Amino acid sequence: MLSLKKPVLLILAAVPLLATAVDYAAEGKLWWAHIQFLADDKLQGRNIGTPEFQQAVDYVSGQFHKLGLKPAGTAGYLQPIKFESRLLVQEKSSLTLIRDGKEEPLALGAEATLSARAGLAPKLEAPMVFVGYGLVIPEAHWDELAGLDLKGKIAVYVNAPGPAETSAPVKSHLGSAAERWRVLHEAGAVGIATIAAGGRGGAGRAASPAGPPADPPAAASDGANPAAAGRGAGGGSAGGRGAPQPSVSLADPELSETSGMGVSLTVTARGADKLFEGSSHTFAEIQALARDNKPLPHFPLTGTLRSEAVLQRGTLEAPNVVGVVPGSGKLKDEFVILSAHLDHLGVGRPVNGDSIYNGAMDNASGIATVIEVARLLKESKFKPKRSMIFLAVTAEEKGELGSRYFAAHPTVPFKQIVADINLDMFLPLYPLKVIEVQGLMESTLGETVKAAAEAEGVAVQIDQEPAENRFIRSDQYSFIRRGVPALAFKFGYQPGSPDETTRKNWVRDRYHKPSDDLSQPVDTAAAAKFDRIILRLMETVANDAARPSWHQDSFFRRFATEP
Ligand SMILES: [Zn+2]
Repeated sequence: MLSLKKPVLLILAAVPLLATAVDYAAEGKLWWAHIQFLADDKLQGRNIGTPEFQQAVDYVSGQFHKLGLKPAGTAGYLQPIKFESRLLVQEKSSLTLIRDGKEEPLALGAEATLSARAGLAPKLEAPMVFVGYGLVIPEAHWDELAGLDLKGKIAVYVNAPGPAETSAPVKSHLGSAAERWRVLHEAGAVGIATIAAGGRGGAGRAASPAGPPADPPAAASDGANPAAAGRGAGGGSAGGRGAPQPSVSLADPELSETSGMGVSLTVTARGADKLFEGSSHTFAEIQALARDNKPLPHFPLTGTLRSEAVLQRGTLEAPNVVGVVPGSGKLKDEFVILSAHLDHLGVGRPVNGDSIYNGAMDNASGIATVIEVARLLKESKFKPKRSMIFLAVTAEEKGELGSRYFAAHPTVPFKQIVADINLDMFLPLYPLKVIEVQGLMESTLGETVKAAAEAEGVAVQIDQEPAENRFIRSDQYSFIRRGVPALAFKFGYQPGSPDETTRKNWVRDRYHKPSDDLSQPVDTAAAAKFDRIILRLMETVANDAARPSWHQDSFFRRFATEP
């Protein structure tokens, strides 16, 4: 609101308005309208496999159609994906320590939790080896498996980052559940038992079956964080009215990240005391070292562990939604992707009497931006040289499964995908002054987004909480792991500013809670401004002569197959 007492300022302010003529308030309303549909209680939190998720799919494909996008799935706009669900039948399952012929049960719940994230052998008995943090980090000359015999054994490790001096992305990547298992499996292990550094095993996100593969080891201390419960041991649902929820994984066995994992458990401090009994160390000693991320000893544990697991298996299906704006000229067979996940946690444990996890910011907001960028592109009559793919992925909340599937089975030739611009919960909670860009320093996309933001008078900054490693914690990681340069975003803040408080309070109060709904305050005009920057970024990437490339010193460059 401009004061009429200051006519000079009014005129000065009108000049840039005429130059750009963007009505952010009106565009913000269009953006918000998509969220009003997707995050309505009627959509029941868009959990995959539900009719309400299908309604969300229909909405997005309907919008793509209306905006003239060409279908680019395997069945029209859709790329159907099959999933498997697994639920542990607790009363038919058990864990037993066997020492000198004596059997001692490990209490399910109080001492250990069997995780249905893996296929779990019906019956398996194996010796155990304590492998410290279970980390192999070649760039830090750190190999905790060196000299250990893990063949046919269960690897027991503390789920914490450990002392190896290396960059945060290296730690996040190699400390992820998938990478840890990859090296343990190669060394011959048949299963894992993880212990949280704080001793609160069982509910920790990184240790949990449904945690996204990219969870940083820092999240291991999240054991008591209720926000993590949504991705918790139950399997990525919001807690399911107190009932355990199944783990969900891709049905495609090629894409399994737990193959060969016959047993997977998380152990509490009480359970750990029992595991370490009779060995050369007590768990208390280990715990004291692990709390400070100090080096840990490696040694065999006594006896064997027998696991008997009964799983209730099911199948479900949920598609990605894919549309394309074809390019023209000789770059038209290259593709730049704008992606966001469409699913959320569904209906779960009530908080303040509300059991619908609407996911307005997480991530109806990202989908709304995907649709709005397609609309603005159409309106602008811009002719992209490269083709633009608009991608709504499924099952992010189950561990980035929809994007992992798309990256493995892309509907266009993979080598021709030049970039992924991903939107996940970018949090337009206050006016847009600075965008936090995840991946800013990693590839040439950093310079491109900086220019796009500056054209709208907006600055860019790196993540102010680098230890969180958000760059590898959403769907862009599925592309990064296959070498595609990518970016992701949040509304940034100056440290110590009220904006910082607003954002941190949001994460505390609304992240993965029913209150991430339509009643929360959102700056829709600021979101519209953000949409314009994403549009400009997409246009630049589509029309630049050179395809985006990783910087020479980027950790992620190692995954690239293209120069
Ligand atoms: Zn989420």
